[in-house]
Amino acid sequence: MRVWVFSNSGQASTTAAHALSKKLKAAGFTVNPARPDVVITVGGDGTLLSAFHRYNAALDKIRFVGVHTGHLGFYTDWRDFEIDDLVEALKNDHGEKIGYPLLDIKVTYMDDTTGHYVALNESTLKRATSTMKADMYVKDNFFESFRGDGLCVCTPTGSTAYSKSNGGAVLHPRLRALQVTEIASINNRVYRTLSAPMIIAPDEWVILRPEDGVNYVMTIDQFNMSDRPIKEVRYKIADEQIYFARYKHMHFWDRVEDAFIGAKH
Ligand code: NAP
Repeated sequence: MRVWVFSNSGQASTTAAHALSKKLKAAGFTVNPARPDVVITVGGDGTLLSAFHRYNAALDKIRFVGVHTGHLGFYTDWRDFEIDDLVEALKNDHGEKIGYPLLDIKVTYMDDTTGHYVALNESTLKRATSTMKADMYVKDNFFESFRGDGLCVCTPTGSTAYSKSNGGAVLHPRLRALQVTEIASINNRVYRTLSAPMIIAPDEWVILRPEDGVNYVMTIDQFNMSDRPIKEVRYKIADEQIYFARYKHMHFWDRVEDAFIGAKH
């Protein structure tokens, strides 16, 4: 099995990643960044996001494992003091995997060129200067004219990140659905939006058409794309999925409780 250890630059993560790589090599694994079967991230959920974008052209061939060097995350099952158990689990690997939905993003720019991207958490459309005015369509049917700071479209696993800060619901990651949340919408006699999160079904898609697409910023997970005027952005559930090598299981709602409430500790 080919394994790669992908770490953030923090001291605790690089130390844990170094120790893990050594133990993996001693156990007979090929530790190499080219064509890995398993990518182990060491850091936090943000580190897993970075590894996802580094390897997003080969998602069908890779399984991810997250090791956290701080608190337990949403994409991380293992703690840094458990790396011996993780190496044992990899030695007994039977190809266990669980797949979660991703967000497919197709952008058409004003010059009619297009860009195609995939997000693990979410994508937002915002305006760098003044408020955003954009028409929103669901399945090609006009839904509303939005005015405000922006709109956020997230995956189920991304629902605990930016979307939650916008008042979005936490979605169980086994659901194949997208969620649209508003970022500071303007609602008055002139402008009217739904003012509630929307859950979009797997066979539906969302289109945002900004009025006068200049000065827009589109984010995709941790990236900001603001290079060209945008005509339209289309969001749907991606054909591909992200796969995790799930050697141990933590109930999703226990993870949510641990991250946001912590009453059991
Ligand atoms: P960052 O600003 O360094 O960290 C964002 C925080 O979000 C970190 O604490 C990270 O956890 C956490 N996080 C990432 N994915 C998550 C998930 N699926 N569920 C719950 N928490 C999650 O940026 P980054 O590390 O590069 O991550 C980019 C993400 O930041 C974006 O995808 C977006 O979701 C989020 N973000 C949130 C807001 C907001 O809530 N107002 C604003 C902008 C961006 P770790 O500490 O474990 O890495």
